[in-house]
Amino acid sequence: MFDEIEIDIPCPNCDNKLKTTVKKLRTNPVLHCKHCGDDIKINADTSKFDRETQKVEKSLKKLKQTLKKFGR
Ligand SMILES: [Zn+2]
Repeated sequence: MFDEIEIDIPCPNCDNKLKTTVKKLRTNPVLHCKHCGDDIKINADTSKFDRETQKVEKSLKKLKQTLKKFGR
């Protein structure tokens, strides 16, 4: 559900940040760096991304709880 979240992956060749989404990496774990023209294969360690999305999910839940408290 958080597959659309944008993440930055640094290009191993030129260190420019490449924007992609978790969803894109799941379906096609290859990034094209427009800065150096290289194709970067991401080792599809999507479990790492899953952890990241879980973190986001958790902080969203916390935020909602905080907002609820304010609503009282
Ligand atoms: Zn590059």
